[in-house]
Amino acid sequence: MTDPAHPTHVSRRAVLAGLAAAPALTTAATPAAAETAAMGAAEQAQAALKEAKGTKLVLLGTAAGPVPGRKRAMTSHVMVSNGTAYVLDCGLGVTDQFARTGISFHALKSIFITHHHADHNIEYGPLLVIGWIQGMPRDVRAFGPPPLKQMTEDFLRAYKTTIDFWAEDLKMTPLAAVDVTEVAQAGPVMQDDNVKVTAAIVQHPPVTPALAYRFDFKDRSIAFSGDTAPTEAVAQLAKGADVLVHETMYVPALESYLREQIAKGRPVKFEPYMAHMHADHTPVEDVGRIAQEAGVKTLVLSHLTPAIDSISDETWRAPAAKSFSGEIIVARDLMVV
Ligand SMILES: [Zn+2]
Ligand SMILES: [Zn+2]
Repeated sequence: MTDPAHPTHVSRRAVLAGLAAAPALTTAATPAAAETAAMGAAEQAQAALKEAKGTKLVLLGTAAGPVPGRKRAMTSHVMVSNGTAYVLDCGLGVTDQFARTGISFHALKSIFITHHHADHNIEYGPLLVIGWIQGMPRDVRAFGPPPLKQMTEDFLRAYKTTIDFWAEDLKMTPLAAVDVTEVAQAGPVMQDDNVKVTAAIVQHPPVTPALAYRFDFKDRSIAFSGDTAPTEAVAQLAKGADVLVHETMYVPALESYLREQIAKGRPVKFEPYMAHMHADHTPVEDVGRIAQEAGVKTLVLSHLTPAIDSISDETWRAPAAKSFSGEIIVARDLMVV
């Protein structure tokens, strides 16, 4: 999502909120059914991680946009390599979804943010505080665009009293600071015993910088587009990677939603709205083309726009498969790749 301050973005937010409520086009699940489904996915993820030999990626949240109450959570991921966990993006739900994987908070060493939209960063602070109480190492590191340092300091300042109550009560060392590295340009981000991380600048106006990341583990390389219009920068960054997780927009479904909303009298202008979406996001056809150019083995379609369960996997996959010859996975929450 882009800046809601812009008029077209106000419309877009209204549209997305409306879309979430459109009964005809969403799969209504009873709370009990949703809970069962979530339990099943969590158990499957835990089993897959238990059996895993090498580095694994768990898709924690796979929906685009800041819309609560959907089956899919907002964007977040965790990679596990050699017992160490790396979180990428912190949309609403990241803490619960992380916990559902069964990965210990002790394993969480690094957090990466692609860009400062709420569907990617809103639960960053809560993940730190809940993570801390659950045993996250206090030397956890965070990486992302400016002003991540200030955001982190401000959040911990705002929650100082809350943190101190537990610290005193439970005889814990308070979470007073987090080591933050701001990333404002393309190039190397960090390196540790497991992974080398590189960033690229992508096209997501007016958000600057908006980042894509590549994680080169010893056994596997995983690249993430972040939110972006189609860009050569992602194809270059993901060159030869094992996995590319790319944001994906299915234009026909988005357009029919939009038309339906306009017919219902919502103050949305079709042309500027779609122009904005094309300036900021990538149609699935282009995702396939970029993945093919990058020569990745596996393409994961995620950050789905619109995030509607009635769109079949095949509908998502087919346009990408026109130009991409590798494996295509349509992301689901808690899927292990
Ligand atoms: Zn987004
Ligand atoms: Zn965004």
